[in-house]
Amino acid sequence: MTQKMLSEAEGYDILRKYDIPVPAYQIVKNGEDAAIAAEKMGCPVVMKIISPQIVHKSDAGGVMVGIGSRKAALGAFTRIIDNAKAYNADAEIDGVMVEQQAEPGLELIIGGRTDPAFGKVITFGMGGTMVELMKDVTLRILPVTEDEIRQMVKEINAYPLIAGYRGSKPRDEETLVKIIGDVSRFFLENEHIVEFDINPLRLYESGACAVDARVIVTDTVHQAVKKEHPPVPLEYFTPRSIAVIGASQDSSKMGYAVMHNLLHFPGQLYPVNNKRPEIQGLKAYPTISAIPAPVDMAVITVPAVNVPAVVEECGAKGVSMVVIITAGFKEMGPEGKALEDRVVQIAKGHGIRIIGPNCLGLIVPPRGIDTTYVHQSPKPGNIAFLSQSGAIINTVVDWSLAQNIGFSNVISVGNQCDLDFIDYLRYVEKDPKTKAIIMYIEQINDGKTFMEVVSEVAQSKPVIAIKSGSSRRGSAAASSHTGSLSGSYEVYMEAFRKSGVIAVHTLTGAFLAARMLAHPKRYPKGKRAVVVTNAGGFAVLSSDYAERYGIELIDLPREVIDELNEFLPEFWNKGNPIDLLGDATEKRFEKTFEVLTRHGDLWDMAFIVDFPNLVLTSEQLARQILKFSEKTENRVIVTMLGGDSLNVGREMLKEHDIPSFEELDFTYRVMGRVLWQKFRVKAPGLL
Ligand code: ADP
Ligand code: MG
Repeated sequence: MTQKMLSEAEGYDILRKYDIPVPAYQIVKNGEDAAIAAEKMGCPVVMKIISPQIVHKSDAGGVMVGIGSRKAALGAFTRIIDNAKAYNADAEIDGVMVEQQAEPGLELIIGGRTDPAFGKVITFGMGGTMVELMKDVTLRILPVTEDEIRQMVKEINAYPLIAGYRGSKPRDEETLVKIIGDVSRFFLENEHIVEFDINPLRLYESGACAVDARVIVTDTVHQAVKKEHPPVPLEYFTPRSIAVIGASQDSSKMGYAVMHNLLHFPGQLYPVNNKRPEIQGLKAYPTISAIPAPVDMAVITVPAVNVPAVVEECGAKGVSMVVIITAGFKEMGPEGKALEDRVVQIAKGHGIRIIGPNCLGLIVPPRGIDTTYVHQSPKPGNIAFLSQSGAIINTVVDWSLAQNIGFSNVISVGNQCDLDFIDYLRYVEKDPKTKAIIMYIEQINDGKTFMEVVSEVAQSKPVIAIKSGSSRRGSAAASSHTGSLSGSYEVYMEAFRKSGVIAVHTLTGAFLAARMLAHPKRYPKGKRAVVVTNAGGFAVLSSDYAERYGIELIDLPREVIDELNEFLPEFWNKGNPIDLLGDATEKRFEKTFEVLTRHGDLWDMAFIVDFPNLVLTSEQLARQILKFSEKTENRVIVTMLGGDSLNVGREMLKEHDIPSFEELDFTYRVMGRVLWQKFRVKAPGLL
């Protein structure tokens, strides 16, 4: 695959076909012709070097603007050529471009690149020579709708410069929207164009003009091969009998740990070991074929070279799912890849599905299944965790025990030679125990299918994702302005947002978000909030955090204040956050909640914030919160700020899937992230 950069003139010619305004130009090879062209075109003109080796022409002294006469054009020609030669002695020089000088305008950038996972992506932002410095860009995965383009334009920090800032007239936003649409079409329809940027596009009070175009084409169009995803019956994940092939009595071996964690499995468990008659107290079989009863799932821990033969035997035995823990496949290079392909072929022939290889396998706590070698199996619960890293699973499981978090499923996806994120998402979507899904993702192969599937899953269950490991690929693709402005990581973030996935940056954040969303009401309907608290200090902090994370605290209308006046002490703050004061009793909270329930159409979520004190026990408050949450259609979010003295209340809420957070900043930050997903709030907090 070779890539080459088109000349600016070629770029202009294609853009013009898509109705994008570009300056008239002429290519000249000597000073005389430059002078004639300048005169014919009408001064002032701009002159630019044409060289495939000079990407950033200004850096090479290859752009001269404001050329006002024949004579100036003659001089400019020589200077541009001299500058270019001084900049890069080996650069091929194809001539000089003489082009009409466009009026000054607001300089914007529209760029595009091809992401290895998600395909063609378009970026938009502040342009000119300071793009890298300002980094004020936003992006979308193509195709885009006009609405999305409009939103994109409004999203950049410099949008006020487009809308009209401090007395300056508004710019032609309609033309801009149309041009971004035309540019998207240009990018999508020309398969061989892999990257481009128009920097700058000058935007005027009326109209616009693109005054630079850098377009990169490839000679081979890469067609992504789509993997098939035949549905996996739910029973494949709920085996009645499991064989461990390579089960061991030697505690230093993987086959020991795996067997050990499976001892709690309430179904039939068969160790397979050709040297011992008994493993960890269970009768062992020399081969899987020797087991005198059906086997649903086989967990394989034997060395990689032996795996094809073992899978063949599993096929003969009628196994439906194999979990290949063994490493030494695709991740080891071409030989390993060939071995892995062979295993896939054999499995396919028998209709066997594969988890792994090079993974920990799966943990299904509600069914006592644990094929991993984690220290201690996690508790059953409602979170499904799909991870591309085994180590992270070990950490998360260990934490979960201390923090009393339970799982419906934990799946280590490994090399994903057969089943991959897409299949696992489909599975946990159907799994009745799963209420929220967390994914740890290093890389997705088929981004388009992933987006399709995860969008569907996210409709019924919240999906939260942590993405890592993007910088290597991102920087490889970042060969240009646009590339470096929108790395792969940003593309993933946009893919997540577009498909309804909540993106987080930390594991703690992932679990906070999962707890927030595992509630049946899940998302608030909007971003309008009320805060009810008995702590003045936390009322102030609530205002700060809400503003920081894009949550809108409403102004209380007169009638609500009047209703509250009826029972609150005279000197209450008469605003939102509603400060019920330190001596607030259960009754005061109850009556306030009643007022808010009656006015439920004014707000979308209520933040309840309390601290430990003697006039209100956490149990009393929890009782009122449960009643409130039941009566209102809106989301109720609780922060109980204190130590163990609040545990009774926290537990009562937890039983009803109402999370109670313990750090106020987190509460608002988590909600900010959730709202980012739905409403694309500005500057959501990192989680
Ligand atoms: P570079 O390769 O350095 O990006 P450009 O072609 O973008 O070179 O030119 C550098 C700058 O010169 C542009 O950012 C723009 O401000 C100005 N410029 C270029 N072409 C024109 C033109 N036709 N009319 C007016 N200004 C121009
Ligand atoms: Mg430029």
